[in-house]
Amino acid sequence: MELTCYDKILIDVAEGCQAFEHIITAMGYGYSLLNVSSEDFVRRCNDCVNWQEGDCEIFQSEIHS
Ligand code: SF4
Repeated sequence: MELTCYDKILIDVAEGCQAFEHIITAMGYGYSLLNVSSEDFVRRCNDCVNWQEGDCEIFQSEIHS
């Protein structure tokens, strides 16, 4: 699957973000429900509990800096 520029931004910002927390792991299910090991897992902002449909303050400051 080819990534769009927007996908790359979501991945790049999440990779460097200390506040990333996956919506599934935040619910206490661990990585097993994601069907990937924690090593293979790719962080993306839109999978984060703080995403808020793009209103995350950290995300907004990253894309505007
Ligand atoms: S949504 Fe916000 S808190 Fe979550 S990884 Fe992206 S920038 Fe960080």
